Amino acid sequence: MPKRNLRIVKRVRNVPVLGICEYCNAQFSGDPNMGNAQSAIQEQFNAHKCKPEDARQVAARIVREAKQD
Ligand SMILES: [Zn+2]
Repeated sequence: MPKRNLRIVKRVRNVPVLGICEYCNAQFSGDPNMGNAQSAIQEQFNAHKCKPEDARQVAARIVREAKQD
């Protein structure tokens, strides 16, 4: 497993509402009105799989396909 960190990048009234994975930049959002936004973000972070290489390849393919036609 790659080393990865969850970074909270946005808070509303001291409640985390947006976090990102520092390793692959995946984003995780929580609802500040739910009361458990932090744990919701943490759960999404724990569940996601870091695939920065694949993400780059997918992005490159999308750009390639968009240039065709
Ligand atoms: Zn990640």
